[in-house]
Amino acid sequence: MRSNKLKVQGVVKRDGLTDNYDKTKIYNAISKANQSMDESERISDEQIAELTDSIDNEIAKIDFPTILIEDVQDIVEKKMLEHGYRKMTAKYINYRDERTIIRRYSSPFMKKYKEKLDAKKVKGQNANVDEYSFGGRKGEANNFSLKELALYDLMSEKARNAHLNNEIYIHDLDSYYLGLHNCLSIPFDKLLAHGFYTRQVDIRPAASIATAFQLLAVIFQIQSLQQFGGCSATHLDWTMVPYVRKSFFKHYVDGIKYINRRSEKYIASFASSYKNWSQNISIDDKRIYKSKKARLYAIDLTKRELKQSVEGMYHNLNSLQSRAGNQLPFTSINYGTCTSIEGRMVTDALLDGLLAGVGKLHKTSIFPCGIFQFSKDINGYPGTPNYDLFKKAIKCTVYRLYPNYVNFDWSGNAGFDINDPRTYMSTMGCRTANGFDINGFGQLKDGRGNICPTTIILPTIAMEAKEALKDGEDLVESFMKLLEKTIETAKDNLIERFDHICSQSPKSADFMWINGTMEGYIPEEGIRSALRHGTLAIGQLGLAECLQILIGVDHTNSRGMELAERIEKLYKDKCAEYKKEYKLNFGVYYTPAENLCHTALIKFRDKYGVIPNVSDREYFTNSMHIPVWHKISPFKKILLESKLTGYSSAGCITYVEVGDSATFNEKAIEQLVHYAMERDIPYFAINVANDTCNNCGYTGVIKEGHTCPKCGSGDISRLRRVTGYLTPDYNTTENKGKICETKDRRDHSDTINDLYSALDDLKHTREFYDSLEAENTK
Ligand SMILES: [Zn+2]
Repeated sequence: MRSNKLKVQGVVKRDGLTDNYDKTKIYNAISKANQSMDESERISDEQIAELTDSIDNEIAKIDFPTILIEDVQDIVEKKMLEHGYRKMTAKYINYRDERTIIRRYSSPFMKKYKEKLDAKKVKGQNANVDEYSFGGRKGEANNFSLKELALYDLMSEKARNAHLNNEIYIHDLDSYYLGLHNCLSIPFDKLLAHGFYTRQVDIRPAASIATAFQLLAVIFQIQSLQQFGGCSATHLDWTMVPYVRKSFFKHYVDGIKYINRRSEKYIASFASSYKNWSQNISIDDKRIYKSKKARLYAIDLTKRELKQSVEGMYHNLNSLQSRAGNQLPFTSINYGTCTSIEGRMVTDALLDGLLAGVGKLHKTSIFPCGIFQFSKDINGYPGTPNYDLFKKAIKCTVYRLYPNYVNFDWSGNAGFDINDPRTYMSTMGCRTANGFDINGFGQLKDGRGNICPTTIILPTIAMEAKEALKDGEDLVESFMKLLEKTIETAKDNLIERFDHICSQSPKSADFMWINGTMEGYIPEEGIRSALRHGTLAIGQLGLAECLQILIGVDHTNSRGMELAERIEKLYKDKCAEYKKEYKLNFGVYYTPAENLCHTALIKFRDKYGVIPNVSDREYFTNSMHIPVWHKISPFKKILLESKLTGYSSAGCITYVEVGDSATFNEKAIEQLVHYAMERDIPYFAINVANDTCNNCGYTGVIKEGHTCPKCGSGDISRLRRVTGYLTPDYNTTENKGKICETKDRRDHSDTINDLYSALDDLKHTREFYDSLEAENTK
């Protein structure tokens, strides 16, 4: 063997690290291949040495200090063949292939992928996904690879870095690469009236209330597969009026046939005269429905049919699992403002169904999220036409946490059309709402939704501003500048994602585009024509913690509130500016951060350590909420948050916690709803304790560690609200951050009974609110 002066000194391995070049390694590799052959086919040690030298000489010709391992192996293969060692070459190639496969399946990527497939390290990231199920395992593994693709193969470096650096959070990364959009308010009026197409069959228009409610569940189901977030019905009581009438008509015809025993000729003539427009005839119209007996009979049967249909809907939406992870679709229904006899019947039945619960133990139904559209003139106060329904809604809230309350009179929905319920204020259960559309739909809610959200992690921005602060600079001012820059980054990411979503083929979501569930679609112009009516949401997490970093107090303090308003105003102004500039609906979003509240905190703590009142808990506070652990009255919580809710157009929610003392106090709960609505809160929910014994079905307050007061069982499900939706048992289905947050939630109602006794009746409410406000603005 000759000694030589190699130009190549290092070999770059597959992991990117470099080893010293050493030809004995080549010699050893060839010996190994030689050993694996039949004895009769092996070559001698001398031949191996000779072969090694010829390879070494070849490598010496390379005019570069390093060589890739793959290139070395190619040269080995080539030289083996040149020496006529065909069988050995075949062995060597096999060996290389085998190693490649082994490497592929032991890569860090595959290890993580398999972790998901095997349901190891389940974290409860989404209360609605069963990560242990076959569907959940498959889905989680796919999601992992889709997220990697989105981050490293698709998005811009700027967006990726901001995301990885915990400055912004790009939501639902697993849906990013495919180009799905977030959520949708489904135009049910249209789909039920005209029928719709699915891939396999076309569905006729609904001809009765029973069919209408069946189809409602089917539509929710299919639409939820075309997107990643929730679906809603924006005015379900109005939507169902024609089908109540159609059912009533059928029952009335039976009535005149079997009770009045009218002649066949009369019945046939009656039926043919009115059948095709029965959906337009009020069931109260005595000029057409002349027989009192038949009318009473038909009302009775229609009510029964309606009751069963609603019951069917609750069971369907709590049991039909779709999407990977055996998820139930996130569904929400808004109702409460229709004052016609039929619309009132629908709202009444929806509330009764909610109150009745589902299953053997009559448990609270998790889906759909019920949302009562509170209106001061239609249902909110004594003397309004649907006040009785509002009272019933309050009763439901007390026992079932649902309905939540959306504010029909909210100032942010100004310009809606009182004659068009599709423009009434409504929301997704989680809080996402459709604001004013700059592209021509105004306040229309149906057929629109959030396209995608990006959230700014406010505590990170505050810390970055703090760490970069130079002598003489003001922290708050530096932060405001950095925040403006980050809002810009979030906007850029949203536009980038929006363009990607718009570039998808309509074939990816046939149901949506063929049936026009998203409004405004012009096929010649592509799906952008419809998507441009949706929202691009710029969200936020941890306002309270951010304020603590900047000025040492949160917004329960007036200084904190002043800065909080300044921050929200910046958000609002920037979104308004972008909306004009890009002709897209940018909106301020008070993000529901279910998983993010914990994961963002962990990343933050890894970087900045434990900071009191900032990172000393397991979660960041949701959006601009008052931290859950503050001991303040529910009225004060509403008052404080109402100072900020007006800045949001893409959705927000205010909650109060009501513990044992007020849980069954309907009047107190009614007061809270009134106060929230008076304060112009757009969307309001009350968290009552809801613990159910899995043995006997007892529902009420069963303290942690206590057994069922009725049967003594210790098998208790603790239903809680996470984001706007409910979760069946927070101890088993929530993530660590949310479990800790739920345990930290302070009961705001300790003072509620005192407050209530100070209010003799609703007449005095106004004065009371004013005095509260005066006290708080001192
Ligand atoms: Zn029990």
